[in-house]
Amino acid sequence: MTDRRDEVERQLRRHGVKPTPQRLEIGMLLLAEPCHMSAEQIIAHMRASGSPVSKATVYNTLNLFSRHGLLKEVAVHPSRLVYDSTTGIHHHFYNVDTGELTDIDPGDIELTRLPDLPPGTSAESVELIIRVRSRS
Ligand SMILES: [Zn+2]
Repeated sequence: MTDRRDEVERQLRRHGVKPTPQRLEIGMLLLAEPCHMSAEQIIAHMRASGSPVSKATVYNTLNLFSRHGLLKEVAVHPSRLVYDSTTGIHHHFYNVDTGELTDIDPGDIELTRLPDLPPGTSAESVELIIRVRSRS
């Protein structure tokens, strides 16, 4: 547990984020191993473990982590943002019934054709979200 905390603390410092106790707490939840979580899930987890952290602090911390490249925001829906601790380019399955986001290895998708880019632009990344439904 202490090792993980140290590792998360180092990770924050490497990205220029000052490791306050609350940032460490949120970082432990999200950065210790690959995961996808919404702000609401993070708040629920923290409340369940007895943390008095405020919603505003969680949202501010998630924004800060994203700005510093510690997390990636995946907009699975215009009103739903999921925070991803895997920040490299990769694709996702999104289960619209359960809200679960699962990684797809970039090597598992082959894009053979893309449209012409708008004039004066270059492609930065292509990341797909494949929406799935649970079979009933
Ligand atoms: Zn992911």
